[in-house]
Amino acid sequence: MRNLFTTVKSAVTTRQAAEYYGLKVSRNGMTCCPFHDDRHPSMKVDERFYCFGCHETGDVIDFTAKLFGLTAYEAAQKLACDFHIDPNTPAPAAASPLRRQLARQRDVEAHCIRVLVDYEYLLKRQKEQFAPSITDESWDERFMNACDALPLVGYHLDCLYSPDPELRKETAEDLTRDGTIQRMEDELRLEKNEVRQRRTSDSDCLQSPSEASERRSRLMAGKEVSGHGTDPARAA
Ligand SMILES: [Zn+2]
Repeated sequence: MRNLFTTVKSAVTTRQAAEYYGLKVSRNGMTCCPFHDDRHPSMKVDERFYCFGCHETGDVIDFTAKLFGLTAYEAAQKLACDFHIDPNTPAPAAASPLRRQLARQRDVEAHCIRVLVDYEYLLKRQKEQFAPSITDESWDERFMNACDALPLVGYHLDCLYSPDPELRKETAEDLTRDGTIQRMEDELRLEKNEVRQRRTSDSDCLQSPSEASERRSRLMAGKEVSGHGTDPARAA
């Protein structure tokens, strides 16, 4: 048991586990704490983790145990399984082709999870944003699509979080092969661009050159009027 603990801890950092389990980690290792209602990243993940908000801390096994509600031993087993760590594998095997192949497989799975988590978030937002109101005559297509797609996305995520490595492998391969992941990435990119464009056009509206010049000419006109008003010739 101690062997499993030390092997897992030396093989996986909390940061790697956090990313693998779908948390978005910034370049400086900050992420939104999954253990309290955290809107701005207040958890630092590295070898270990520490939350500046709720002060939760520990190593990769503590992190995984708390995240999935497991005992420390179960968490160590899950990590060993998810990261394809065999506690009986001697260190030199690290460079073997099989090990490399497994590492690649892990990357594919992690990539699928990241895309699915983002996509699920997008769908949840759309479901909320475009939900029908009493006055709506017809329901928004985006609301219907989100309702349709959400259960399947959840199912795929469950498969990718499964303790069964074969199921994870198959799911990741299927989703990649049939272009599902690519389509979701395209949609996410599109949505991101739209949000960016909306933001730029909003700020354009606030200070568009034409509006600014119009405002300026209105001001000038006002000045002219008041100028006439104080014109001594007119006043006289
Ligand atoms: Zn926290």
